[in-house]
Amino acid sequence: MKNTFEEIRSQDKEFIMNTYGRFDVAFVGGKGSTLYNEKGDSYIDFGSGIGTSALGANDEKWSAAVSKQANTLAHISNLYYNPVTSELAEKLCKVTGMKNVFFGNSGAEANECAIKIARKYSFEKYGAESGRNKILTLKNSFHGRTVTTLAATGQDVFHNYFFPFTEGFIFEEANEKALEILKNDDKICGVLMELVQGEGGVFVLDKEFVETVEKIAREKDIVFMIDEVQTGVGRTGTFLACEQYGIKPDVVTLAKGLGGGLPIGAALCGEKTCKVLGASDHGSTFGGNTVSCAGALAVLERLLDDGILAQVSEKGAYIRAKLTETFGDKIKEIRGLGMMLGIDFDGPTSKEIAVAGIANGVAVLTAKAAVRLLPPLTITYSEIDEGISRLKKAVDSLNK
Ligand SMILES: *Cc1c(COP(=O)(O)O)cnc(C)c1O
Repeated sequence: MKNTFEEIRSQDKEFIMNTYGRFDVAFVGGKGSTLYNEKGDSYIDFGSGIGTSALGANDEKWSAAVSKQANTLAHISNLYYNPVTSELAEKLCKVTGMKNVFFGNSGAEANECAIKIARKYSFEKYGAESGRNKILTLKNSFHGRTVTTLAATGQDVFHNYFFPFTEGFIFEEANEKALEILKNDDKICGVLMELVQGEGGVFVLDKEFVETVEKIAREKDIVFMIDEVQTGVGRTGTFLACEQYGIKPDVVTLAKGLGGGLPIGAALCGEKTCKVLGASDHGSTFGGNTVSCAGALAVLERLLDDGILAQVSEKGAYIRAKLTETFGDKIKEIRGLGMMLGIDFDGPTSKEIAVAGIANGVAVLTAKAAVRLLPPLTITYSEIDEGISRLKKAVDSLNK
């Protein structure tokens, strides 16, 4: 394997498709919320692999559970039963109050499953002739990169090149207009939305709006779907962000943080939708992979039994306070819930700050104009302090 940064980068550039704008750093190791490059330089991780490594790097319990499963049975397909996958399904249902689960490998796949459920629910109940197959999503949303989940994503920038997209998606701003459409368009079978629009810039949806969407969806028998791919699994301070909104969706999708860094996605169904998909309606070769499920079980154990979830709100509030104290009026706004934060800085762009962050030993994400923080949920207070102090150096270097 290559071991200098220049070698790694040039190998990557030649042999990996150029679909990502990478930062000029290669990570080769880590512990908790501290990552190391090939020379051993440290970086505070405020991004956790885009919200996936919820327990940080090398969490002891997670690593032990994953290695044990890899040494026992890595994958057997969905033709057979196995106790790890069904245990995870039961635990997810117990903690969310949902009835059953479909396992895939990513957020986009979880949303594909949700979309199929909404369409089939309506098809079976109202017939194809009803034309009741449209799905309402929100402007500025993000639901994935497959052709259908791109179609579901309510941002025009994603609707390029790959025509024709899957039909039947309509977008509206998260306000009265969306409510009017839901009330009046009889061709709508489902509504899909994030509660905090992550990729869209970390915008928290208004509680009253979300409650009204749920109410109309109930009245009109519209399948109410919440995309918790980014907000789920403790990220916002509760296991699901839904809990803070007091809502009970028909379908909830999870992915990012669920596997603690391993690929897994899940569509969880409530009473109304849990029997919609039957034998051979849907499937995934890798879905429910035992190693990913063992990782997810370890994530649940750490969050729920070891008390990590209980600290998320407090740590999130601490990060906000520390940012305000450190940056003062250089910050225009901080948005978000729990440890999912978006910061609008006055001056340099989010991209410039992220690049300067790497030069100063801190990894942050961006979401449009916002600097986005999704730190590992296990981050320590001293790692937070060190990360914010490095971020200050980064921002100061741009303001010179
Ligand atoms: C990241 C994300 C997705 C897509 O997940 P992938 O695992 O990349 O397919 C879907 N919805 C939301 C809200 C996301 O943040």
